[in-house]
Amino acid sequence: MAFDPSKVRSDFPILAQAVNGKPLVYLDNAATTQKPLAVLDASRRYYEEINANIHRGTHHLARAATAAHEAARDRVARHLNASESAEVIFTSGATDSINLVAAILTLVPGDEVLVSALEHHSNIVPWQMLCERSGASLKVIPCHEDGTLDQDAFRALLSERTRLTAFTWISNAFGTVNPVREMCAAAKAAGSLVLVDAAQAIPHVRIDVRELDADFLVFSGHKVYAPTGIGVLWGRRSVLDALPPWRGGGEMIKEVTFERSTYNVLPFKYEAGTPNIEGAIALAAALDYIEGIGLEAIAAHEQHLIRRAAEGLSALTDLRLFGPDDRVGALSFGIHGVHHYDLGTLIDQMGVAVRTGHHCCQPLMARFGVTGTTRASFALYNTEAEVDTLIAAVEKALVMLR
Ligand code: PMP
Repeated sequence: MAFDPSKVRSDFPILAQAVNGKPLVYLDNAATTQKPLAVLDASRRYYEEINANIHRGTHHLARAATAAHEAARDRVARHLNASESAEVIFTSGATDSINLVAAILTLVPGDEVLVSALEHHSNIVPWQMLCERSGASLKVIPCHEDGTLDQDAFRALLSERTRLTAFTWISNAFGTVNPVREMCAAAKAAGSLVLVDAAQAIPHVRIDVRELDADFLVFSGHKVYAPTGIGVLWGRRSVLDALPPWRGGGEMIKEVTFERSTYNVLPFKYEAGTPNIEGAIALAAALDYIEGIGLEAIAAHEQHLIRRAAEGLSALTDLRLFGPDDRVGALSFGIHGVHHYDLGTLIDQMGVAVRTGHHCCQPLMARFGVTGTTRASFALYNTEAEVDTLIAAVEKALVMLR
């Protein structure tokens, strides 16, 4: 039976409000998702019932909080089909996870880091900084006019100089789904480490890190119905064990003297300081929530919505859709002679929340000769009626702007 979003909307109290006197139509889910009661309850219960600092305490609350935090790690590991929970490192988000990896790699002049034209700034700038301090160079996999990556160019760019290849699973700007398994296999065959940015994949597709065969995978909790300030770096044990620690502090050490310190085992080696305990617990609740509905049912529903939106919008005069037809999550468009900011502002007055601008993908925007696009992005609670409201709002705004 098809998934019925009206049954879950009451799980998200924020959606019930009016904006500018109109029912809120929230279509900015690629920026962040709304949080269900199950997640809000998990956060609240943590503070009401078991709040304590973890790992070092012998008292009851410290043990309860530690157990809940480590159970959350197990939950994430299960969701990713990781070989072991120790490969799941909690961070503050995808950006933090990528910066962690960029900080622990040592490159030398002549080495290359390969990224794609579709990347979010957070999967470009940390590598640029690594290249600047090491003398390595950054190479870019180009994309075709339809917003898919040029796989021939990718293979031609791979060489024994490629030390790290980093690409997104799903583009936050265009919704392009990259052939990540094939890309991982090609990069690994060239001897490169591989990082997959799953920030946009996590709410929409099933992730199996063992099948994927990357070395690192990152995501943020807030894109998958969990709070901000919690994220994950999954890293292959054999790779992380051989790399140095990053931040120094409590928890990441085995023993400290003023002469030298020795470091803790995974995952604690990369978790200096008090972590976001509540965030990790809430992330586990969010994963339970989506699995309770069924990731495949959610994905099918979102696919239906995005196709309906693409069809309706493409019928409008001078409207250009970016990205391939089989896009997932995000639908980007531009309208000749209309600035995306004006369009976004006008449809906000009709209660419709979309994102306008460069989506933290300035190089991609430059590649397409635009300063930005209007982007509608979809989640499990969006409805057909909301898609129709979006289309009608854009149509109405165009009459006003032209
Ligand atoms: N990568 C992609 C593809 C994203 O969409 C985002 C968030 N827009 C990020 C990385 C960065 O995520 P965060 O800001 O949560 O660290």
